[in-house]
Amino acid sequence: MMPKIYLLDVTNRDGVQTAKLGLSKLEKTMINIYLNEMGVFQSEFGFPTTKHESLYLQANLELAEMGALKPIRLGGWLRAVAADVEAAFKLVPNLRHLNVSISTSDQMINGKFQGRKTKDDILNSMVEAVDAARALGAESIGVNAEDASRADLNFLIKFGLAAKEHGADRLRYCDTLGYDNPFTIYETIRLLAENIGMAIETHCHGDLGMANANSIAGAKGAIDGGQDVYINTTVNGIGERAGNADLVAVILAATKSKGFGDKYQLAGSIDLSKAWKIAKFASYAFGVAIPVNQTGVGVNAFAHESGIHADGVLKDPQNYELFSYEELGRGEPEFVETGREISAGEYSGISGFSHIMGKLEVSFSSKEEATEVLELVRYANVESQKPLVGDELLFIAKYPNIARKLLTLIPLE
Ligand SMILES: [Zn+2]
Repeated sequence: MMPKIYLLDVTNRDGVQTAKLGLSKLEKTMINIYLNEMGVFQSEFGFPTTKHESLYLQANLELAEMGALKPIRLGGWLRAVAADVEAAFKLVPNLRHLNVSISTSDQMINGKFQGRKTKDDILNSMVEAVDAARALGAESIGVNAEDASRADLNFLIKFGLAAKEHGADRLRYCDTLGYDNPFTIYETIRLLAENIGMAIETHCHGDLGMANANSIAGAKGAIDGGQDVYINTTVNGIGERAGNADLVAVILAATKSKGFGDKYQLAGSIDLSKAWKIAKFASYAFGVAIPVNQTGVGVNAFAHESGIHADGVLKDPQNYELFSYEELGRGEPEFVETGREISAGEYSGISGFSHIMGKLEVSFSSKEEATEVLELVRYANVESQKPLVGDELLFIAKYPNIARKLLTLIPLE
């Protein structure tokens, strides 16, 4: 069978580690829920060695066990150090999928470790981390070669082969600085796939404006080399510096670009009609506007004004549109309150709250139940510092015990 393209979204890891940006634990949970609805294979849902993430990660794994976050895989990110793997399983015992990361370029090995680590030390640390993860019950392990695009190809092959021998499932090729172009990444990843014989992840950044194109070229390289590929994306391309490959753009490129989808196919079934919803939510949650010219979801992505274009698109949309806005879940009118508005915040009372929930068609069996959910909504507002969206309120009302866990932060324990 022909190898396939899987989507591995890293919004809740690379997205939230972006300078000046972050998400509340509830917002991260909503991103996981939307990714699951969209049919994304895996969400890199956070940092299992970071103490303030523990309850969030545990709560999301509970949602998975309850079937509310299924079939998406939830994977943690950590350094490729055995002690970190042990710490991760101590803090999040139900963790089953993870990626372990370590620098692989001479620049970073010398520049970061300042002579304290050799390439052999890098290999040893990585295989010890993989061994520890396997011993502690990991079901899938990816090994991340940080700065792979500036690393020596033979070392990357050695790194990948050692990982495979110790039971890793995938090699993440990190173009950490966005240094590759479609031609170089295609060639390198094809050689890695052929020589290692293990699935490859592409992890591309936009420093030179090529994150999406590089992801598609890298995916072709992996498949031409006989291996499955896992494209790392983030919602709206939010990520460190100039950002990551964009989830919606990658799906569109893989399925709509000239001839690509005939041979190189996405695994599973992707529900593109959720694109608009997840892009809007991420924009609101991060507090970052979607650029007007954003692929698929920008306000101008289906806007036409000049005479020839407007006339052409009205006669037949395919004259000036490659795909329809309906496919992305666009086109529904948006409700914006222009009169009296009651929103739920950290100081809300029961009357205003009941009014809001009534509009969402939620009724409570007792005053106690309503008061309990309101209390959780107040806490959620303390964390997010902006009105919750309808789906967040519905989530809290539906899963109050999970919400309580998400909203619990106990420092210095
Ligand atoms: Zn990254």
